[in-house]
Amino acid sequence: MATPRTKYIFVTGGVVSSLGKGIAAASLGLLLKQRGLTVENIKLDPYLNVDPGTMNPFQHGEVFVLDDGSETDLDLGHYERFLDQSQHRGNNVTTGQIYHTIITRERRGDYLGATVQVIPHVTEEIKSRVRKLAEGPDRPDVVIVEIGGTVGDIEGLPFLEAIRQMGLEEGAENVMYIHLVLVPYIDAAGEYKTKPTQHSVKELREIGIQPQVLLCRAAKPVTEGIRQKISLFCSVPTRNVITAEDVSTIYEVPLKFRDQQFDDIVCEHFGISTGQPELAGWTQLVERLKSPRHRVRIAMVGKYVNLRDAYKSIIEAFQHAGAAHDTEVHPVWISSEDIKKRGPEPFLRDVDGLLIPGGFGERGVAGKIEAIRYVRERKIPFFGICLGMQCAVIEFARNAAGLADAHSFEFYRDLKHPVIHLMADQEGVTELGGTMRLGQYPCLLSEGSRAHCAYGEDEVFERHRHRFEVNNAYRQQLTQAGLQLTGLSPDGRLVEIVEVADHPWFVGVQFHPELKSRPMRPHPLFRDFVAAALEYHLAEAAPEDVATVGERDD
Ligand code: GLN
Repeated sequence: MATPRTKYIFVTGGVVSSLGKGIAAASLGLLLKQRGLTVENIKLDPYLNVDPGTMNPFQHGEVFVLDDGSETDLDLGHYERFLDQSQHRGNNVTTGQIYHTIITRERRGDYLGATVQVIPHVTEEIKSRVRKLAEGPDRPDVVIVEIGGTVGDIEGLPFLEAIRQMGLEEGAENVMYIHLVLVPYIDAAGEYKTKPTQHSVKELREIGIQPQVLLCRAAKPVTEGIRQKISLFCSVPTRNVITAEDVSTIYEVPLKFRDQQFDDIVCEHFGISTGQPELAGWTQLVERLKSPRHRVRIAMVGKYVNLRDAYKSIIEAFQHAGAAHDTEVHPVWISSEDIKKRGPEPFLRDVDGLLIPGGFGERGVAGKIEAIRYVRERKIPFFGICLGMQCAVIEFARNAAGLADAHSFEFYRDLKHPVIHLMADQEGVTELGGTMRLGQYPCLLSEGSRAHCAYGEDEVFERHRHRFEVNNAYRQQLTQAGLQLTGLSPDGRLVEIVEVADHPWFVGVQFHPELKSRPMRPHPLFRDFVAAALEYHLAEAAPEDVATVGERDD
């Protein structure tokens, strides 16, 4: 039932960053979608980079690649997973993009002599990007706009000004402002503190925005008394002061919101009448995630093991696959540098599988290769993603195909056996931003392979983000030694999947399957990898509670 015009919900954050605005925005999106409304989410990022593609994961966490090849903020991963809806370029806007557009126009002379200014030119461009989502025949009922950063950041001001103006232009009945804050519990005083919330709302009001809903991040549900106090100081009805308490799985957030009638409050505000949200499947998913029957331990060997946001989608894909097998997938984070120093045995002897994620640069590669050798020879399930797959090919070339000096051209130019080399269309590329092989491409699967068995299809479409590939000059030597090339690009020129036959589950993929896994539709390769790990675990009956050297901070 289409609403008369698109409604806009603006989600801002205050007090501190990393409170989970993206999850809150995605959770609300899910509730509205499950009420039968059509929803689009958009993330406005105030940084000057055109996209996060050139940013270090330490700065920004994972880069979430979409089907259309755009490199976006990791919150778009939450949007895709919660709404089960693929995002596109228009769902993530950065200050860098806004300025790029405006300066290009200015150089062309489009402004006809005018002085180009933040207000109105930057704000108009921001608003037009948001409204673009509400254009066309498939106009959504609701657009949820998440503003990155925290209220009070200098760089966020043009975005806040733009959304303030939209309130005026769209009409109060068509916009809603939601503010996410931290309500800290001070142990020594034995109470929740509302002052940071009051200050944050005050700051928003100074800009001209009065929030209608406050989402209070807190360790435990905020008491009625505290909600009343917040209500009084911030001019928000007590019912609209909603607790966003810590939960064991992020997929529980929509259910907690639902318990507090968050979606009812939104629909009442907009005068939208729908039925109740259909949440049976979601509730079942959360129950399965919260009380799994089994538990497997999967080693994750990478460079950014202390920074979980760098591997967000992989962690989520594990959750989805685990739920399908009634199994908790427990990642064991291992620094590849530690493996290099001490060898793989102390770290990998008790795990049920190994996953090597994507990455860039040579640091840590030696440890990854040693880890892969260990699990290949001991027949422990292995899943290699992008750089992880390339490392698996290097390892196989060296230790099974007799190419002792095999390595990747990414790390060394003067190589005897560059089994991984630069893709032909990357030669001569000098600009780094947005120039990798990005986005969705088809891949044909060989019948009888593990990949084919997992997908149950001959052709699949997966998302990519890489410059290097398996060197076709080594195909014969590798396959003769037992490496199977089970997924190829339709023209046959690009190796997309490798497998080792004489092994329970050894699969490496050039693409990023984690980006397409959804809670109710786990990615087939993750699903089968977890199944193989569970099988291995049950066969080994490994003692579960013994902490090992590799278990660093779980
Ligand atoms: N650095 C490798 C390449 O560019 C792998 C990239 C990745 O893991 N995303 O091919």
